[in-house]
Amino acid sequence: MAIELSKVSKTVQSGAERLTILRELDLTIPDGQFVAIVGPSGSGKSTLLGLIAGLDAPTSGRILIDGEEVTRMSEDALASLRGRKLGFVFQSFHLIPSMTALENVLAPLEIAGRRDAQQRARSLLEDVELTGRAHHYPSQLSGGEQQRVAVARAFANEPSILLADEPTGNLDPRTGRHVFDLMVEMNRRRGATLVLVTHDHELAARADRRISLRDGQVVSDEGGTAAVSGGDDEGRRGEEDEGPRDERDEELEAARP
Ligand code: ADP
Ligand code: MG
Repeated sequence: MAIELSKVSKTVQSGAERLTILRELDLTIPDGQFVAIVGPSGSGKSTLLGLIAGLDAPTSGRILIDGEEVTRMSEDALASLRGRKLGFVFQSFHLIPSMTALENVLAPLEIAGRRDAQQRARSLLEDVELTGRAHHYPSQLSGGEQQRVAVARAFANEPSILLADEPTGNLDPRTGRHVFDLMVEMNRRRGATLVLVTHDHELAARADRRISLRDGQVVSDEGGTAAVSGGDDEGRRGEEDEGPRDERDEELEAARP
């Protein structure tokens, strides 16, 4: 699904001062695009993701997701949009500690009332290569494994948009790369617009498009005219066999609302 921001500003009161976090941001992310957001700490990256997710409201401006104005939705409509169409991956994993890996992935599927919940949760765990860890609790998993569970969970309800806030920030570079590869692979296989905040310029270089934020403004935007995910992406495909093309295409179609 496409994401459109027009003249989005966010200001907060900080003591006696008024702090501007985002300044009149104009941004259009087409359906299926993989965008990396980079920028120094404090530049407004997390705030931007929170606004797209409708977790927070802008001070002014409009945000449209798939043509629907999130800035005018009720809390209920927003919660429903998040549950049906958005997936999140955070820096600090955010798994439920009292649930196993499988149960963490199952939870959103059961909430959505899916009959194939068990089967789908297992297939998602297989996608992130954690079949052997299904019954482990988060505390029994490494950071990289926990993040792979979080990635599987984020894809559970076939989100049209996946938002990831420094998903590799707490992982060593090698593990981080693996989690990143999985997200890109899942993005292609399961189909979604992917907005990824990262400090890692090497990872950002593999996105369709890179947007740099500084002091709440876009200071550079490159690659935006490139083909969207699923197009010519040889450069980041890696070696793995992806299975029959038409099967993935069907799944992609099924993922569309
Ligand atoms: P980034 O993710 O790029 O590091 P953030 O979006 O988290 O940046 O924050 C941008 C700036 O806004 C930071 O200086 C942060 O301290 C400030 N900020 C974020 N949320 C609030 C808030 N609710 N109240 C006051 N300041 C905030
Ligand atoms: Mg942040």
